[in-house]
Amino acid sequence: MSPVLKLNLHRDKLRALRAHLDAHVSQLTEDITDVADSGDRANQQAETVVNVGLATHDAVVRREIDDALERINAGTFAACEKCQAVIGMRRLNAIPYARYCIRCERRIEQEGTL
Ligand SMILES: [Zn+2]
Repeated sequence: MSPVLKLNLHRDKLRALRAHLDAHVSQLTEDITDVADSGDRANQQAETVVNVGLATHDAVVRREIDDALERINAGTFAACEKCQAVIGMRRLNAIPYARYCIRCERRIEQEGTL
């Protein structure tokens, strides 16, 4: 498979993922609005907290996806932002918006810093 074709595949995958996230976020936002309108508050407030947390996580991932799409346009996709090594296809298939190669990612996770 040519590199261009692979980039197109990743681009399609990132766009599909982003569309999925957008649908999820609007669903969560609707739930939050429903709770705000309803009378029974106790559990629903807890549920709102969970939904806001999920929506926040979605927003973070969405930003990562946008950045990854920009990297495709800039021609730097699949290059580790830390060591510039090529990020492995298996890793990109699992996390299409991965910023770092697996080695740098592990180091970041262990040390908590870049
Ligand atoms: Zn790296």
